[in-house]
Amino acid sequence: MDPKHQRVELNDGHFMPVLGFGTYVPPEVPRNRLVEVTKLAIEAGFCHTDSAHLYNNEEYVGLAIRSKIADGSVKREDIVYTSKLWCTFHQPELVQPALESSLKKRPLDYVDLYLIHFPMALKGGETLLPKDENGKVIFDTVDLCAVWEAMEKCKDAGLAKSIGVSNFNCRQLEMILNKPGLKYKPVCNQVECHPYLNQSKLLDFCKSKDIVLVAHSALGSQRHKLWVDQNSPVLLEDPVLCALAKKHKRSPALFALRYQLQRGVVVLAKSYNEQRIRENVQVFEFQLTSEDMKVLDGLNRNFRYVVMDILVDHPDYPFSDEF
Ligand code: NAP
Repeated sequence: MDPKHQRVELNDGHFMPVLGFGTYVPPEVPRNRLVEVTKLAIEAGFCHTDSAHLYNNEEYVGLAIRSKIADGSVKREDIVYTSKLWCTFHQPELVQPALESSLKKRPLDYVDLYLIHFPMALKGGETLLPKDENGKVIFDTVDLCAVWEAMEKCKDAGLAKSIGVSNFNCRQLEMILNKPGLKYKPVCNQVECHPYLNQSKLLDFCKSKDIVLVAHSALGSQRHKLWVDQNSPVLLEDPVLCALAKKHKRSPALFALRYQLQRGVVVLAKSYNEQRIRENVQVFEFQLTSEDMKVLDGLNRNFRYVVMDILVDHPDYPFSDEF
C-alpha cells in the first residue's frame, strides 16, 4: 500500500501522512549523514519528515527533500515538512523572524507544519539553553496565547501551511482553544506516546476537538543520556510486546507503530539504518486484532522517557498535570 495515500485530514483542510520520519539525532552524530538517510526514507515511501530548530539539522533534511524533488521522485506538494519554534523565540516579535531565518537555512519556501516545540519560554536569543552564572537555565514568561497569535501570523504570511503545538497538556491546549479571537485551532499536538505512555486521556480530548495527536518517541526514544534516564525500561524489549510481535512474525517496533495508527494517532519513527527504515514502512501491510490492541493498552504505565527535568521548575512545565 502506498504510504503517501495513508493520510489524515487536519482541521484546516490540509493533509498529514500518518507515518512520519523522525530526524532528531544527538549532537555527536555527524549531521551530513542525514541527507543520505532522509533520501533513503523518501525512497522507502516516507513523505512526512519531522524536524526542528533544536535538532540543528534542518538544512540537511531540506537538502534531501530538494534533491528527491529534483530527481523527480516526489513533488513538493506530496511532502509534509514539519519544523518547530524553539523556546528562546517565544516573545511574539521573535516568532516570525525565527521561522524566516530557519527557512533561509533549509532551502525550502515554506514549512507544511510549524509547531510550538514546548509550552515553556526561555530567555530570548540564539543560545538554545541560556544559563545563569550558577548553571541554571534562565526562564522567561510569555503568555502562550500571545505566542499562538504570532504563530497565526506565520500562517497568514504563507510561511507555514498549518500550525500546531507539541508537548502541551490538556489545560494548555484548552487555554489556546478558549482564547478570545482565536483565528486557527492547533491542527495537532505532538507528544511522547507509546505503549508505556499511551496518552489515552489526552488522545480522547484531542479527538473531541478535532486535533490530531502525533506520537514522538513511539519506539521508546533513542535513550540518549542527554534526555533519558539510562535505567528506564527498554520498550522494544518488553516481553509482552515481543511475544505478540513474534506470534505475528513482525518486529516489536512494527507492532508499536501499528498500535498508534489503529488508535487514530499519527506516528513518527526515527531510524538511521536502511533496513529498519524500509521495515517501518511495512506498518501498512498488516493489522492488529482488537485483542492485540487490548494487550498493548494493558502495557500502559504512564511512563515518560523525555521528562525534561532541567525545566521541571518552569511555571509552564507541562508534565506535572495528569494529562
Ligand atoms: P524513536 O522513533 O522512538 O526510535 C528509537 C530508536 O528505535 C531509533 O534510534 C532507532 O534506531 C530504533 N528503530 C527504528 N526503527 C526500528 C525497527 N524497525 N526495529 C528496531 N529498532 C528500530 O526515536 P526518537 O528519535 O526519540 O523519536 C522520533 C522522532 O520524534 C524524533 O526523531 C523527532 O523527530 C521527534 N521527537 C520530538 C520530540 C518533541 O519534543 N516534539 C521529542 C522527541 C522526539 P536506529 O536508528 O539504529 O534504527
